[in-house]
Amino acid sequence: MTSNTRVVVIGAGLAGVTLARRLGELGTPALLVGEEEHPPYNRVLLAEVLAGRYAPEVIALPAPAGLLRGRVTGIDRAAREVRCADGSAIAYDTLVLATGSNPVLPPLRGLFTPGHELPRGVHAFRTMDDCLGLSAAVRPGARAVVVGGGLLGVSAARALAVRGAQVVLAQQAERLMERQLDPGASALVLRHLRGLGVEVHTECRVRDVRCVGGAVRSVELADGYALDADLVVLACGVHPRTGLAEDAGLAVRKGVLVDDELRTSDPRIHAIGDCAQHAGTVYGLAAPALEQATALAGLLAGDPTTPAARYTGTRALTRLTLGGPALTAPAAPGPRAPFDLAAFGETEPRPGDDVVQLADATRGTYRKVVVRDDRLVGGVLVGELGTVGALARAWEGAESLPADGGPLLHLLTNDGGS
Ligand SMILES: Cc1cc2nc3c(=O)[nH]c(=O)nc-3n(C[C@H](O)[C@H](O)[C@H](O)COP(=O)(O)OP(=O)(O)OC[C@H]3O[C@@H](n4cnc5c(N)ncnc54)[C@H](O)[C@@H]3O)c2cc1C
Repeated sequence: MTSNTRVVVIGAGLAGVTLARRLGELGTPALLVGEEEHPPYNRVLLAEVLAGRYAPEVIALPAPAGLLRGRVTGIDRAAREVRCADGSAIAYDTLVLATGSNPVLPPLRGLFTPGHELPRGVHAFRTMDDCLGLSAAVRPGARAVVVGGGLLGVSAARALAVRGAQVVLAQQAERLMERQLDPGASALVLRHLRGLGVEVHTECRVRDVRCVGGAVRSVELADGYALDADLVVLACGVHPRTGLAEDAGLAVRKGVLVDDELRTSDPRIHAIGDCAQHAGTVYGLAAPALEQATALAGLLAGDPTTPAARYTGTRALTRLTLGGPALTAPAAPGPRAPFDLAAFGETEPRPGDDVVQLADATRGTYRKVVVRDDRLVGGVLVGELGTVGALARAWEGAESLPADGGPLLHLLTNDGGS
């Protein structure tokens, strides 16, 4: 690709910003179009802003040159241009969709007002605006109900508890963060939340949101029990933002389908991050979004130093930081230390796999790795990530582990080099 090729990237989130910055470094400047009012930020750290630990500007991403604020409303593939909400059009030679995901709004009775807005007091938790809205509404002693016990629900519940709210978390599944964590690690997350005063209900379905005068008053559970609520956070998952791609006639299943060069069904249009579906998988996580952005930058700029010319799926760890003590909040009961989690690959063994597990109930730590045919295929660490560097190298390298089992234990106990 020549450096005067027009690369347009839609979405100034983690994937879009990383791609645009990397392309700039490689001498292929891109135009990045993002709709959010705030300067680009690291979404992963929003809960830290909600907890009062970081000011919004602390989580800003280094902004690339060529950032345009605006919302893209359509793609004209024949004319090779995108249309924006302000009526302008931008021509492209190569287009990249990095549009992220939208929160899933569960089909609860009472959730939608006639104007299709959420009732006052009910918040999603995806954007800086959601975060600042929640932050302005939370008060010490406020009764908050968090619907959903995945990564988002757990981080929101934790942050609100740190701000002094009385938090109830309603999780439909039988344990917390069941998509990322195994039962042992889930149990430690539960203990951590309870230590902060969060009341956690598992196997608990919310069916109704009750409002008075357009403001939420309570949440009703499937068994008829009602929880009083000043605030409700909807953390029921996300779905990829595929509307632009669908309207433009690109192949879309759960996400926008891409091949190993992150190309959609139109070879001039690529997709990366939460909106993309590669080899059947929509990751919805930061590390794969960054990997895809870096791989695509190398592919588009023809960078010989990019390790793989093709994207073959993630080899990155999912690292989840559930924060440390708040800077501004009143003291919350329970543990005050940062609570870190890392998970990668397959955290549940198949028959015949080897598992090494170390748990320390007093320190609240848990480490487990799964090995198949002398290869590390997955693992989970909670509470203490000193060994994460060594594990990441073994996982990313996909090398055979020596057969005597010793190195495995070493991987789990060696705190150096992370
Ligand atoms: C509170 C929270 C905590 C999280 N914690 C973790 C974590 O601990 N670990 C982890 O791995 N992942 C975490 N995630 C998930 C992670 O943030 C996402 O996987 C990551 O942000 C994906 O990056 P992206 O660039 O694909 O999408 P996004 O970051 O969502 O960015 C997409 C951007 O595109 C913009 N956009 C969309 N459509 C248009 C349009 N038509 N025109 C212009 N702009 C548009 C959006 O407004 C948005 O700014 C968390 C997410 C949230 C919300």
